[in-house]
Amino acid sequence: MIQEDFLKKLISHSKEYGFIFPSSEIYDGLSAVYDYGQYGVELKNNIRQYWWNAMVRLNENIVGIDSAIFMHPTIWKASGHVGAFNDPLIDNKDSKKRYRADNLIEEYRDKLQDKIDKEVDKAHKRFGESFDKEMYLSTNPKVLEYQSKIDVVNTRLVNALKNDDLNELRQIIIDCEIVCPVSGTRNWTEVRQFNLMFETKMGSVDQEASTIYLRPETAQGIFVNFLNVYKSGRMKIPFGIAQTGKAFRNEIVARQFIFRMREFEQMEMQFFVRPGEELSWFEYWKEKRIRWHKALGFGDDKYRFHVHDKLAHYANAAVDIEFDFPMGFKEVEGIHSRTDFDLSQHQQFSGKKMQYFDADLNQNYIPYVIETSIGLDRTVLLVLSASYAEEKVTNKDGSVEERVVMRFPPALAPVKLAILPLVKKDGLPEKARVIMDSLKLDFICQYDEKDSIGRRYRRQDAIGTPYCVTIDHDSLETDTVTIRERDSMLQERVPVNAVRDIIAENVNMRSLLEKV
Ligand code: ATP
Repeated sequence: MIQEDFLKKLISHSKEYGFIFPSSEIYDGLSAVYDYGQYGVELKNNIRQYWWNAMVRLNENIVGIDSAIFMHPTIWKASGHVGAFNDPLIDNKDSKKRYRADNLIEEYRDKLQDKIDKEVDKAHKRFGESFDKEMYLSTNPKVLEYQSKIDVVNTRLVNALKNDDLNELRQIIIDCEIVCPVSGTRNWTEVRQFNLMFETKMGSVDQEASTIYLRPETAQGIFVNFLNVYKSGRMKIPFGIAQTGKAFRNEIVARQFIFRMREFEQMEMQFFVRPGEELSWFEYWKEKRIRWHKALGFGDDKYRFHVHDKLAHYANAAVDIEFDFPMGFKEVEGIHSRTDFDLSQHQQFSGKKMQYFDADLNQNYIPYVIETSIGLDRTVLLVLSASYAEEKVTNKDGSVEERVVMRFPPALAPVKLAILPLVKKDGLPEKARVIMDSLKLDFICQYDEKDSIGRRYRRQDAIGTPYCVTIDHDSLETDTVTIRERDSMLQERVPVNAVRDIIAENVNMRSLLEKV
């Protein structure tokens, strides 16, 4: 499937089946803001739970908090967001479309890389088994030409960003002859800096009201509570503080569905360590986080690390975990070694000592920090795109039909089982209700007696329900039901009193957590 078509399909499936709706839709929507529907919210909550359990429950030295979205405005001065949380913005004068200048250049570079990949594929087909990729990459004139263009563009981009050189960013766009994807022209404005924070006022009387910000990340809520948690929890270094919650960014270009939103959720953990030990903890968290992703079973080749070319001035190591989204490999999580930057800044701006007393060393110091920061909505998109499948199904009568099935890992599935009386009479609905009343104490269940059983299966497949429990006439006689498994579509007759354990065994989060 062409990638753009795939994203479109996901968007419409998400809407049709109650996962994600455009926000304020009856008023024509609000750009880059989305609402989660009845299944979307369950999926999102399950992903959050998986993360929270992997972080807080499995690690004795990590605790969670939930800090407020509104924070003292000086926090954002200390963190650097007021001065420098900017993106370079450029407009095309013909289409009036707005872009991030760095993204336009990155896309140009990625296209060159695609060209190299295509040449390699072609050559591979031509030479077959004897193909030597390394040799080809280092000798083929076309590939070398593309590679040298990539290298030049990369170096210029990294330097321009490092030096905040907006003229140079524009010059790269001009020199590379990058055109607007909408108008096809090169009629560009100057590049300007644009601060991504949303402002609002706090206080009832206008004159006295002060400007505050909607937090652009959850991390600062952790840093400003460092002393509270360390003291009240009697924490010993190394230790971590985790939280999930809303963040807000006035993104310049917010396309691509829930990949880039203006209101979104993050799941962040700050891990406080002894100065000098941060780089080995960085490696530790890098490995641990990739294991968390891979445990979902979508395929190890769908993930890769991307080491940052340009480190933020406070970081001494940074890596992204990228996933093969419908739009190609893109960041889903960042792991950063942030040194003692944030705590030092808060110490300076608040005048409070942000220090830890290390009894083993008999020494006070400002801890260093490793941060793991993952987008919850981006992970929802990851799970939706990796789970979506279209299949041909042969029915018992030999007819063939299509099904769309969301192959969610069972622990993440919004609805765990559907209870389906075969017909709407003969006491089957009553029996089904008794079974449902007991199972709903353990699982999110759905009762459905409308339409043919085949159509009911299709509906459950489309929302990714791992099990369908069917109650038929034999159920009344023998106290048994059939359980149909979503992916294999195999059906098995089992005693009613065994259903709970069979399902619990398979939808449990334990199987995921064992792998992280
Ligand atoms: P990007 O380069 O994609 O803008 P970033 O490097 O600014 O992301 P961070 O500030 O490191 O992102 O935020 C951590 C995580 O939060 C990201 O890996 C991503 O999953 C998520 N995230 C950031 N911005 C958004 C957004 N606008 N919409 C949805 N998720 C986001």
